[in-house]
Amino acid sequence: MRTVYLDNNATTNVAPEVFEQMRPFFCEEYGNPSSIHTFGGKIGKLLDKSRKQVAQLIGAEASEIVFTSCGTESDSTAIRGTLESYPGKRHIITTRVEHPAVRGLCQYLSQQGYRVTELSVNREGLLDLDELREALDPDTALVSIMWANNETGVLFPIEQIAEIVKASGAVLHTDAVQAAGKETIDVSKVPVDLLSISGHKLHAPKGIGVLYIRRGTRLAPLLVGGHQEHGRRAGTENVPYIIGLGKACELASESFKDELVRVRKLRDRLEEALLDNCPGAKLNGHKKNRLVNTTSISFEYVEGEAILLLLDRLGICASSGSACTSGSLEPSHVLRAMGVPFTSAHGSIRFSLSRYNTEQDIEYVIEHMPGIIEKLRDISPFGRDKTKPD
Ligand code: PLP
Repeated sequence: MRTVYLDNNATTNVAPEVFEQMRPFFCEEYGNPSSIHTFGGKIGKLLDKSRKQVAQLIGAEASEIVFTSCGTESDSTAIRGTLESYPGKRHIITTRVEHPAVRGLCQYLSQQGYRVTELSVNREGLLDLDELREALDPDTALVSIMWANNETGVLFPIEQIAEIVKASGAVLHTDAVQAAGKETIDVSKVPVDLLSISGHKLHAPKGIGVLYIRRGTRLAPLLVGGHQEHGRRAGTENVPYIIGLGKACELASESFKDELVRVRKLRDRLEEALLDNCPGAKLNGHKKNRLVNTTSISFEYVEGEAILLLLDRLGICASSGSACTSGSLEPSHVLRAMGVPFTSAHGSIRFSLSRYNTEQDIEYVIEHMPGIIEKLRDISPFGRDKTKPD
């Protein structure tokens, strides 16, 4: 059976060029970059090259790049490290639609006595910047707002957000895990202080991340001990993965524009066909202001999990907008925050593409999806198709 992989916001394949670049660093060139001998010491130069490749993708200086173990660690370091650096301030501003790596931590911190403000979003998933302006006060240590949403692909106006936050004196962190490699990121123009990236969302392996730390930003380390990463993240460097991530960033920089135009075309073809051919299908999130690879569509009166199951039988991989909470399926916090009605949120599916998808992949989904929706509507607990007139 063929596999059509349309779940690239969950994870991506490692690019073959990335894998080839990593290969020697497991069994042959396995030295520790902290060693004095040449065998280990020469690895340090290769890490510097990766640091430059990552920096180039986001318009940073190589010295501002710190390697971590994943996007979650980058987010945690940014948030906890800032709070530790500003012990007199107890207020955090974030949004209702952040990834659990940020939202879960902020909720935990609110139980530890921090004051957390979660900004709301409208029906299209967009923020009201006046709400941000009003929430900022002298006690605000940190604002953490994602660059792009993982479920809907909706982009937040980070440039405007940075202007507002920097005027207040608070530190600005952005989770750019979904944006890196899919959107132009240039920290020389957008004055964020801290920015998170995760390797496995841009064709590097799982288990490697980056925290960009603008020069001069006060940030206590999360991991303390060794002197690695100039004391900003202790622990022996994950050499093969760092080298892989460098290559992945180089590939993303090189092919950026052409690939994104192609991916957008495929995404639009899929989206238009599903909205046209599946009754009761509705787009979640702002139509224009979003990542080029993502579409989140609600199919009313159908269970998202049931759709996924039937897609899976055809080898099609996607995600639903539900999460299993205490044994029952709950619509995701993102769709709930957007006010998507229960009957739609339950039947929502996210398709997320990458540069490895083909026209044939998309046509295969278009061929099968209307039949799947029709079949499930017929057996829906809501009775017969409510999208058809009585
Ligand atoms: N932030 C966002 C927006 C994500 O989509 C993800 C992963 O899905 C993460 C953070 C966490 O990254 P990692 O899986 O590398 O910990």
